[in-house]
Formats: sequence, structure tokens, C-alpha cells
Amino acid sequence: MTTFPDLPTFVTHLECAMTGEKLPADAPHNLSPAGYPILVRYDLAGVKKALTKRKLAGRSPDWWRYRELLPVRRAENIVSLGEVMTPLISTPRFARSLGTSGEVIVKDEGRLPTGSFKARGLALAVCMAKEFGIRKMAMPTNGNAGAALAAYASRAGIETVVFCPDDTPVVNVNEIAECGARVYKVNGLINDCGKLVGAGAAEAGWFDTSTLKEPYRIEGKKTMGLELAEQLGWQLPDAILYPTGGGTGLIGMWKAFAELEAIGFIGKKRPKMIAVQAAGCAPIVRAFESNSRHAELWKDAHTVAAGIRVPVAIGDFLILDAVRESGGFAIAVEDSAISSTLDEIARLDGVLLCPEGAATAAAYKQALADGRIKKTDNVVLFNCATGLKYPMADGGRPLDRNGPLDFALL
Ligand SMILES: *Cc1c(COP(=O)(O)O)cnc(C)c1O
Repeated sequence: MTTFPDLPTFVTHLECAMTGEKLPADAPHNLSPAGYPILVRYDLAGVKKALTKRKLAGRSPDWWRYRELLPVRRAENIVSLGEVMTPLISTPRFARSLGTSGEVIVKDEGRLPTGSFKARGLALAVCMAKEFGIRKMAMPTNGNAGAALAAYASRAGIETVVFCPDDTPVVNVNEIAECGARVYKVNGLINDCGKLVGAGAAEAGWFDTSTLKEPYRIEGKKTMGLELAEQLGWQLPDAILYPTGGGTGLIGMWKAFAELEAIGFIGKKRPKMIAVQAAGCAPIVRAFESNSRHAELWKDAHTVAAGIRVPVAIGDFLILDAVRESGGFAIAVEDSAISSTLDEIARLDGVLLCPEGAATAAAYKQALADGRIKKTDNVVLFNCATGLKYPMADGGRPLDRNGPLDFALL
């Protein structure tokens, strides 16, 4: 493929994340020939020469500021819906209620187009699909990924077919349909939906955009790590708590930190990477605790945090490797703790988390209590979607405007 001067191109090749087998960059890929996820590799020595912190500081506040570390080769293939660098929001009253001296910071991904961090991965997947001339993309989703794919693909003029479990939150299903995808509600879980996508890809030639079966979603999610490092003045926190479904974001951030070290922007220090799951669906936690490199399918998965209801993850070994190398851990939280922590942070600090984001806050409390996180640790919690997308309890109280009113009691 021709390289245009308008976008610096440092991708050298792709490789199988398990075997290291090299694959050409300039062709669409799904899994590697050995059946594992594929990672994108860059000429990092070249990036080191081309990019300085000062140069970066002058660029517009969106993820294209990291273009040297992204795979898109031609500017005309950038598909954009107004991406932003998501804010870091401290939660001082929540932290004080737990007696900590370390900072508890929420990275609020709900500010992105389509209201979730799925925009990062799917935007990159769609840009690359455009570059490769792909006409029809398909994916299984618990909601947010489908919405991001539908929005970015429609904008790029690419057709989409999306399958979600039939109990996916209504707002997500309708958002996907509204943004132009054909969305099917399936009587099964996300892995069952994934099988339909695989069958359609084989029979009808759809491009399978499933988590980690497409190499560029990780590159998009990687920007969370790049952005976080830059926002914290190139000093990483002590721990990052990440709500883990397929694990793209955790894997992506881990890759980001390695690339940042290779280009001389950060040193060797890494945060503890903490994979947070729901007690009703915790395959990664079970594998972590049994010292396995792979996770077995979790049966009868259930949780209020739909985004992390992922019974089996094809990148399980990449999640577990990152967690272990970082000195982190995997932790499961009950739905009741998710709901009560969501209420608590909204009331104390005015930050309305999504249930998956609240799961990271509940895990933080649990890990403080069991001593795996110290009170002096500075931690970052990922709020991966806007809390407004989720059903909330009916909080309004009826009031008869004609009745006797005691305003002191209102
Ligand atoms: C997809 C999703 C997750 C899980 O993200 P992965 O990177 O796939 O593990 C968590 N929360 C929400 C709201 C999501 O949409």
C-alpha cells in the first residue's frame, strides 16, 4: 500500500500473539493461522526519532495525536465523530470515606462518541476496514461495541450486522438500530452470538469484527494507556482497575506502556493491572487463582454489568500475562456491591458511573479491605461508559401541588 506523507507510518508487520509468527500488515486479518489474536508491531526506533513529548503537547486533544503509534496509513481513511481525550475526575469524598490518602481517579470514557470506550477500538477497526475496502462488517455485542461499530461504519458507508443477547439493555439495542446496523436479538449469550458471526463470515463473507478476532481494536484501546500516561505527566499510577470482559483495554494499555518505554517516554515502572469481573461471570479470576494461563468457559453467566458478561475470552492468556507481569491480580465483585458503590459515588462525588465502572470502584474497596491495595496507592478506575445508558431506579417522589405543603420538610 502506498504511504502518503500526511500520515506517518511506522507499522512494520503484524504477529501472532502466541507463536510470534509474522504476518503482512497490508491485508485484512482475523485470527492468526495458529488460531490466536494478532498484535500490530511498529518500528519503535523510528517513532522515537519522529516523536517528542513537546511535539505531542502541541497537537489537538484527540487520539489522532498519537498517530505515529496507530496503524492508519492514509488521512482520507480517518473516520471521526468528534473524539476527545477523556477527563480524569478525582473522587475525594469517596476516597476520604474509605480513609485513604492516595488519590482515587476515574477516567471517564462515557464522554466519547456513542457514550463508551468501545468507540476507541471500533473507530480504528472501521478506519482499517475502509483502508482495506471491506464492505460488510459483523459482530457479537453486549451493547456498546455494536453501537460504536454501527455509528463509525455508517459514517464510513460500510454495512453492519450485529447480534446481541436478547436481554441486552433496550437503549443499546435501539441505539445500534438507529445508527444503521441490522441488529438481531439472539436467545443466547455473547459467545453464542459470536458463533453466528463466525458462520456468517464463512458463508456470506462478512468481516468478523469480534473482540480480538480483529487486530486493530486493541490499537484503538491502546490510546487509553497513551492518554492516561500523558495526562499524568508521564507518571503511571500505582494501580489501574479495569472492568474485564474480552480484555481488549487491559491488553491494549499494557501494550501502550511497553511502546512508551521503547520510545523513551516512560521508565520501567508499571501500575498493578487489576482485572475486575462480576462474581456471576469471573472466568479470568478463576484462572488467575488456579495459576492457569487460559480460562475455562464460565457456565450460567449473569451480572447487572452487561459489558463484562463474557463467559469466555479468546485473549485470556494476554490478560493473565499482563496481570501477572504487572504484579496485579484478578478480582470478582458481587452485583450488590456494584449497585451500592454506584449509588455511593454518585451521591458523594456527583460522578454517575456505569455498572462496569462501579464494579472497579467496588473492587477497589474490597482490595483495600483485604490489603492488596494500600491506602497510600494512587489508583485509576475505568468508567467505560456513560451511566446514563443504563436503567436507573425510579427516584422521583410524587407531589400534589394542590395539597398542603410544608416546605421545610421537602
Ligand atoms: C466492553 C465493555 C467492557 C469490557 O471491555 P473489554 O475491553 O472488552 O474487556 C466493560 N464495560 C463496558 C461498559 C463495556 O462496554
